[in-house]
Amino acid sequence: MGTSIPVVKAILQANQAVASENRAAFDRVGLLAVNLMAAPGAGKTSLILAALEHLPPALRVGVIEGDIASTLDAERIAARGIPVVQINTGGACHLDAPMIRSALSHLPLENLDLLFIENVGNLICPAEFDLGAHLNIVIASVPEGHDKPYKYPGMFQKADGVVLNKADLLGFLDFDLEAFRHGLRILRPDVPLFIVSCRTGQGMEAWVEWLLEHRRQQRERHGP
Ligand code: MG
Ligand code: ZN
Repeated sequence: MGTSIPVVKAILQANQAVASENRAAFDRVGLLAVNLMAAPGAGKTSLILAALEHLPPALRVGVIEGDIASTLDAERIAARGIPVVQINTGGACHLDAPMIRSALSHLPLENLDLLFIENVGNLICPAEFDLGAHLNIVIASVPEGHDKPYKYPGMFQKADGVVLNKADLLGFLDFDLEAFRHGLRILRPDVPLFIVSCRTGQGMEAWVEWLLEHRRQQRERHGP
């Protein structure tokens, strides 16, 4: 026990240093990087695909797909003609900053405006590993139930924005939206909450407009 805590601390410090380098690489080219975190099946890939439908066509989007094993999600993105790099974590349950650094050499960073990073489906440790993204997003979904903020506070505490997906199922399932909102507000009184359905497109405008506003601010700070 005595040595395990310093070891974890050293790993996280090393990760933090690489995360800062990643962020600097994004800032050099004025690119906004968005880390999407969620439990498996909440709709991380679907949210990327739905955003592509609503973002201005001129906006140049790239994707890093983190998955334990398959390339299925990366193939869905690549089918849209979007530059995508797959990271197979080989069983690891989260992405870390060095994995992102190795993926970056395979992306045309200077020709991108927005980079989505799809983290491994997991609501626990991805929150511990800064990737260098500008925005950390937690996606929850209606079928998972309204108790997610109560059960996984660490994840929601790190979020810059929260997306509740599959809103088209509200009213069909025992999901108490007010309980979800209350759980979130206890942890994070001011975090933006976007209630969306990737399937119907409901709520996508507000979500995409918020991303574009951050993109504009990033460009004002760091753009060429
Ligand atoms: Mg996915
Ligand atoms: Zn993990």
